[in-house]
Amino acid sequence: VQGIDHLRDPRLNKGLAFTLEERQVLGIHGLQPARFKTQEEQLELCKISINRYQEDLNKYLYLVDLQDRNERLFFKLLSENVEMMMPIVYTPTVGLACQKFGLIYRRPRGLFVTIHDRGHVYDVLRNWPEPDVRAIVVTDGERILGLGDLGACGMGIPVGKLALYTALAGIHPHQCLPIMVDVGTNNKDLLEDPLYIGLRQKRVTGAEYDEFIDEFMSAIVKRYGQNTLIQFEDFGNHNAFRFLDKYRDSYCTFNDDIQGTAAVAVGGLYASTRITGKTFADHKIMFVGAGEAAIGIADLCCKAMEADGIPQAEARGKIWMADIDGLLTTTRKVGDLHGHKKFYAKDHSPVKNLLEIVKEIKPTILIGASATPGLFTPEILQEMAKYNERPIVFALSNPTSRAECTAEAAFKNTEGRVIFSSGSPFPPVNYNGKIIKPGQGNNAYIFPGVALGVIATLMHHIPDDVFLIAARELAACVRDEDLESGSLYPPLDSVREVSLRIAVGITKYAYAKENILMSAEEMRQKYHREGIAAKGLASTYPEPEDKRKWLEGQLYNFNYESSMPITWSWPQPTPMKT
Ligand code: NAP
Ligand code: MN
Repeated sequence: VQGIDHLRDPRLNKGLAFTLEERQVLGIHGLQPARFKTQEEQLELCKISINRYQEDLNKYLYLVDLQDRNERLFFKLLSENVEMMMPIVYTPTVGLACQKFGLIYRRPRGLFVTIHDRGHVYDVLRNWPEPDVRAIVVTDGERILGLGDLGACGMGIPVGKLALYTALAGIHPHQCLPIMVDVGTNNKDLLEDPLYIGLRQKRVTGAEYDEFIDEFMSAIVKRYGQNTLIQFEDFGNHNAFRFLDKYRDSYCTFNDDIQGTAAVAVGGLYASTRITGKTFADHKIMFVGAGEAAIGIADLCCKAMEADGIPQAEARGKIWMADIDGLLTTTRKVGDLHGHKKFYAKDHSPVKNLLEIVKEIKPTILIGASATPGLFTPEILQEMAKYNERPIVFALSNPTSRAECTAEAAFKNTEGRVIFSSGSPFPPVNYNGKIIKPGQGNNAYIFPGVALGVIATLMHHIPDDVFLIAARELAACVRDEDLESGSLYPPLDSVREVSLRIAVGITKYAYAKENILMSAEEMRQKYHREGIAAKGLASTYPEPEDKRKWLEGQLYNFNYESSMPITWSWPQPTPMKT
């Protein structure tokens, strides 16, 4: 490392925070103005700079630039201003950034592996300069947020998610690797856009695509080891479920759109039990939408009920679901009920209209994950309020413009009795003079903490229990005052504490000799292939006694460290006798 690298390398750069001594010793004295600044003073400057921008995309670009210039300052800014920064580095602005990715792309951050690299994925991975990668977020760009196929422009998502790994859970940035697997795009506008930065071809599908993903998975293990966490993000529905089933027992992997979403929604439902006094099993849950989000949440609701002692068939019986063709019933054509949809199909005559469905089923919980705005009409909300003292309504579709209903509509049409949550933030609602601040079921409550727990314990697999634990820990972080203000979630500014608590919960689970949620017999059946039953999942030894302290000791330091070389003294040599 040369002196000048301390100004050029974003990992070493401290800007005007270098002390006089550091400037002199490093040989960078005179390359900076005379002023010395603290990190706090620099943060203030960052905030002033961001606020000068009118457009969110420009705020995003400022942050990208800051990350390229002074990494520690970037992460400190993010981690200490979560509520302000989250909508910029993550939804909704990151969606806009992806749509404009061809225009704003400046510097590489993450790896692009294309279908043309088949047979050489490992060689591409070797070009990544960091030797100690522990966590990868990968997308193929087919279903970015609620925005559809954005091809290689989807890279903004893994980059943004991993920024939150560090900012919200303290995972070291050099351990995080964003990857875009570019197999083409079916987005006609992009294929015709001269600014598009990806492969200009239709998506490769079928066996060729599957073999490529297989090669990708094994290349990662070859390069970084069996317990490298691989988070799948924003894959198309048909591939997301397939890959999760295919890889979950042989790789350290999870799908945030399915499992992360599930945990955040179930966490909200756990918190709601403190208002309603009901248990999961007391509810009848109606899902509108039967995709990655809905199925993921439904499956985890079943798991929550099973943990309460309800048999699986009974648990599934309490969950109803509708897709674009209406209520899922056993009368549907074979093939229509693919994947987990079939578990929730009921012996019932077909009903298409959602109001009729609600009238007929009378759910106590209504969850929308359909990416279709306005589906929860005033009539439907009023109907929910007719027979539920406290109707529970989640309008999860993102971005805000896609939500099934607004927060305001939910409160207005239920005499303010609704227990409401949404996927995107809504402004506070004034209902008869009472200011209600509905919470946002943001996946960022879950995935950073899960990742921290998983990589700290070096688990090889991520059982579903991990997400139930995450949901429970999240719910435990909700304070009474949050519930009173109308939110089922803690404030976004406390998400670092949530992450740590989730990671502690997962760490306890990973070291448990017996699965603390499943019976020994269930555990044996589930894992008999790997033979890991009753041995624990963690592979970092010895088991730490104080797990919270152990985790805290591994976290990224958001504060500047000394740039001086480490020196130490030796004892004075004893003079030789003459
Ligand atoms: P997806 O896999 O494409 O699923 C969409 C589902 O909605 C499909 O089952 C589809 O039916 C159904 N659908 C579409 N139009 C409908 C209509 N008019 N009536 C009833 N059902 C309809 O998408 P996803 O990944 O589940 O995401 C869905 C939405 O949830 C997105 O807007 C996403 O942003 C949001 N989301 C929110 C969170 C969060 O709040 N934390 C997390 C993840 C996702 P078919 O099966 O018949 O096609
Ligand atoms: Mn996603």
